[in-house]
Amino acid sequence: MNLDQILNKEELNKEEIVFLLSLQKKEELEKLYFQANEVRKEYCGDEVHLRGIIEFSNYCDQECMYCGLRRSNKNLQRYRMTKDEIISTAGRITKAGLKTVVLQSGEDHFYSKSLVTDIIISIKEKYDTAITLSIGERGRDEYEEWKKAGADRYLLKHETANDKLYSAYHQQEMLKSRLAHIRCLKQIGFQTGSGNIIGLPGQTIEDIADDILLCKEMDCDMCSFSPFIPSNNSPLWKIPPANIDLTLKTIAAARIVLKDVHIPATTALSTLIDGGKELGLKVGANVIMPNFTPLPYRVNYQIYKNKKTYDPLVYLEEIKSMLDRIGRNVGEGKGHSLKLVINQ
Ligand code: SAH
Repeated sequence: MNLDQILNKEELNKEEIVFLLSLQKKEELEKLYFQANEVRKEYCGDEVHLRGIIEFSNYCDQECMYCGLRRSNKNLQRYRMTKDEIISTAGRITKAGLKTVVLQSGEDHFYSKSLVTDIIISIKEKYDTAITLSIGERGRDEYEEWKKAGADRYLLKHETANDKLYSAYHQQEMLKSRLAHIRCLKQIGFQTGSGNIIGLPGQTIEDIADDILLCKEMDCDMCSFSPFIPSNNSPLWKIPPANIDLTLKTIAAARIVLKDVHIPATTALSTLIDGGKELGLKVGANVIMPNFTPLPYRVNYQIYKNKKTYDPLVYLEEIKSMLDRIGRNVGEGKGHSLKLVINQ
């Protein structure tokens, strides 16, 4: 296969994506990253969208094998933020100039349909911000009500496109059921986010190519490709973290294949390597999600170990000077889906 030819193709098939993910030589990787950056420029421009994330509860009903929030983990101090705490944190995010609030949690049914609705309405009444929900699988009626209340986006990663691995890591649940949720969210009108975890034991390069193609098939607006990092309190505690080059290759290949989607430089990537966000932004990413979860809660949102913690305002200044240095700028608007005609 010829790298230059593949990089200039309009559509890539699975074999060609696998080829990109298998590249090892420095000059070849540079070509891949260069092309991904070109595609990013063409479809996203130089804007980097900042989304302020509030991890409002670490209670979880699920048992995802890779995740430190899993229900059976007894070594975690659990917390729930109150509605008022969530709203005032959303205020801090918008005051810092960010125009998206991401509400993330474990799957925690303490936050009922009406409580989540209340929180959405209150944030929307008080602040001019987009809202992304990232709270796991819920009922269609709940999704519908939250959309009506004003939530704009929903993040529900497919995690792995390999259905056998999916079931093995999620208590025999079915990938097709996860995908049905994502389709339902799309149908209801949410801008939807999906994506995978890179480096799960048993996962192959072919599986990662399938992850990228699945994001394409699902026509997702945002796609997150984050490296696996072990949690000490999960059955996968002994597994080494994902390979950094493979993570960067995945982001780059995804940008080339998916084109007009938002791709974050994830917190997991910057946990794995200093300067990870900058690396991600240079190979196709166009979104950063600074964490505004207040102390003392943030230290207990331990999805994986050594998760970076920082003062969000100091961190924002660091991000801005990094963006200046690499010739990028903070997105002006809300950074809605690139697939929407009206993007504000
Ligand atoms: N409970 C919600 C969202 C919270 S978890 C949901 O299920 O959608 C957010 C994301 O963290 C997950 O989608 C998963 O991709 C990622 N994650 C969990 N454990 C991880 C680990 N050990 N390493 C890297 N990413 C992980």
